[in-house]
Amino acid sequence: MHKQLKIVLILCVIATFLPLKGYSWGFWAHQRINRHAVFSLPPEMIGFFKTNIEYITEHAVDPDKRRYAIEGEAPRHYIDLDHFCAFPCDDFPKKWEDAVATYSEDTLQAFGIVPWHIQVMMKRLTRAFKEKNLQAILKNATELGHYIGDSHVPLHTTENYNGQLTDQKGIHGFWESRLPELFHENYDFFVGKAEYIKNPLDFAWANVLNAHKQMPLVLSLEKDLNGTFPPDQKYSYETRNESNIRTYSKEYSEAYSNSMKGMVEAQIKLSVKHLADTWLTCWMNAGSPDLSDIKFNKVNIKEEQIKEGKVKSRAHAKDGLDIFK
Ligand SMILES: [Zn+2]
Repeated sequence: MHKQLKIVLILCVIATFLPLKGYSWGFWAHQRINRHAVFSLPPEMIGFFKTNIEYITEHAVDPDKRRYAIEGEAPRHYIDLDHFCAFPCDDFPKKWEDAVATYSEDTLQAFGIVPWHIQVMMKRLTRAFKEKNLQAILKNATELGHYIGDSHVPLHTTENYNGQLTDQKGIHGFWESRLPELFHENYDFFVGKAEYIKNPLDFAWANVLNAHKQMPLVLSLEKDLNGTFPPDQKYSYETRNESNIRTYSKEYSEAYSNSMKGMVEAQIKLSVKHLADTWLTCWMNAGSPDLSDIKFNKVNIKEEQIKEGKVKSRAHAKDGLDIFK
C-alpha cells in the first residue's frame, strides 16, 4: 500500500475509535430533538419558537463545540452514576448541596453533573423569559435542549462510556450517532403536548436513571452480537468529507438496532417531549410572558456568541452552580 494512503487510513481508524468523553447525540439527533420539541408547545409559545426554529436547530450542538475550549463544560453532559452507586441508586444524594457534602464538588465535577446543570439552565431560561431577553431566551432554550438530550443517553451515565472497559471501544458514537443517522427515517416524532413539571430536580433524575437502567443492555446486546456476527462484516468503509473512514457496517448496525427493539428512537422521543416540558415549565414559572412582541435579531445573537468564548470557564461553571446555595 502507498505509504501516505496507509497513514491516512491509520489516522481514520484512530479517529473512529477516539474516546468521546462528554460527547453526545450526534449533530443529527441533537438538531432534531430541538426542532421537534417546538411542535409540542402551546399556542402562546409556538409562534415565537417557530420564528426562531432555525437558530434553535442550528445551535443545538454549541455546548459540544466548546467542550475543549471551556474548562468545566465537559462534565455538564454526563454523570458516571456507576462510580457512585448501583441502579436504582436510591441512596445517592439527589440534591446538589447533599451530593457536595457527601462526595465534594471536585469529585462531582470529575464524574459529571448533568442532572444539576439542567437545573441551572432551567433557572437561566426562566430568568430570560421574565426579562423578555431575546438573546438569552434563544441561547438558554437551545442549550437546555442539548443537555436534556444528553441526559437520555445510557452511555452518558457510566464510567464505561465508550465501552473501553469491556473491549467495545467505539460503541458511544455507534449508539448515539451512527444508528440515528442510518435509521431516523423510520422514527416517529409525535410526542403529544408539553406538560408542566412540578419538580424539575426529580424530573431530571428520573430521566437520568431511566437512561442508566438501559445502559447494561446497550453494552450486553452489542457484546452478544459481536460474538455471533461474521467478523469480516462488522465494519465497512465510507467516504465522508472526501476521506475514507472505517465504521460499523449497515448490516451490523441494523442487527444491533433490531436487538434493542426501538431503544434509540424511544430515547430520542423522550428527549423531544421532555425538552418541550422544560421550555413550557420555565415560561410558566416566569409568569407566562407574552412572546409575540419579541422580535428576532440575528446580529445581536451572533455578537453574544463571540463574547461567550471569552468567559473564564471555571468562574463560569461555578457561577452556574451557585444558585443551589
Ligand atoms: Zn453533549
